[in-house]
Amino acid sequence: MTHPFLDLPPLTAARFASIEDRVARLLDTRQDVVIMQGEALLPLEGAIRGTAGPGTTALNVITGPYGQTFGNWLRDCGATVIDLAVPFHTAVTADQIRAAFAEHPEIDFVSLVHAEAATGNTNPVAEIGEVVRAHGALFYLDAVASIGAEPVLPDAWGVDLCVIGAQKAMGGPAGVSAVSVSERAWARMAANPSAPRRSYLSLLDWKERWIDGGRTALPHAPAQLEMLALEACVERIEGDGLEAVMARHRAAASSTRAGVVALGGGLEPYVHDAREAAPVATTLRVPAGVVASEVVARVLAAEPGLPLAAGGGGLAREMIRVNHYGVDAGVGVVRGCVAALGAVLGELGMGVDVGAAVGVVEAGWR
Ligand SMILES: *Cc1c(COP(=O)(O)O)cnc(C)c1O
Repeated sequence: MTHPFLDLPPLTAARFASIEDRVARLLDTRQDVVIMQGEALLPLEGAIRGTAGPGTTALNVITGPYGQTFGNWLRDCGATVIDLAVPFHTAVTADQIRAAFAEHPEIDFVSLVHAEAATGNTNPVAEIGEVVRAHGALFYLDAVASIGAEPVLPDAWGVDLCVIGAQKAMGGPAGVSAVSVSERAWARMAANPSAPRRSYLSLLDWKERWIDGGRTALPHAPAQLEMLALEACVERIEGDGLEAVMARHRAAASSTRAGVVALGGGLEPYVHDAREAAPVATTLRVPAGVVASEVVARVLAAEPGLPLAAGGGGLAREMIRVNHYGVDAGVGVVRGCVAALGAVLGELGMGVDVGAAVGVVEAGWR
């Protein structure tokens, strides 16, 4: 008896290439797209180790925890790193990037996270891309949390290395990710003596052994389950229409925000300006005297399926994350989250209006 996902025929090179082409269409890019068969940290790390070295001066923008990680990899590669940290309740501006270039004209690499699911902000990549391009620096972007939730356009924005993962707004599996690589980025890697080679982290291996050979022979056995799941998730986005998927995430974010404001009780959107709030997830600040992780624990004890989490690390006391992405970007989940948060805050003695909040959430989807 054959098993539905154990006894699979081999995944062919042609199928693998066609999945890459579909991902390239999703990104509207003519750059090479390399599918990395691992969680998104694999291409995120591989792209930095491939392009950065002791001669690199990197501007590393920190708008959440991932920026911190990138800075550590860059330093590990021997790069000189200029950290530009902005408070987590806001986004970085193109003017801040411009000022950093004015102060350090030697910057030749910029790393940026597009949207941060962990802090709930999103950065103006198109405007920042113009500044980066004007200075000729290489532009590295983590679009894991933005792809599927808002436009991600590496060619239009001049992004040289654009990393995506399937596990957030794409509604796919966590074990597969991709990176688009510009000609400039390939040249930087080829000239970098410390770029990984003959390594699982190596993008150059994929270029030399797969792309340059016309994508006819895979360098090793592909991760079939993850590749098929990625194909299915891109197919589903194509079927629904990328615009419709993004609209669903926008509605989830704006209705969560509006619902929380209507709820009252001291719960507030963590990101002050709605234009800087990411469509992928909404972060909330709890009222003084209330511990976010305790509120989340009480909500999940009553309704374990809701996509709520406390902020990571030091944010666990003050931040609640509403992870309304993928299948959870819908009115039912948002209504459920806002109502359940209201119920727990009510139990804690906060003056909340759950009925008004639910009405506002529902209005946001009509
Ligand atoms: C989710 C996410 C990733 C992927 O990392 P995991 O923590 O393993 O899910 C990378 N970058 C950003 C900005 C993310 O939101």
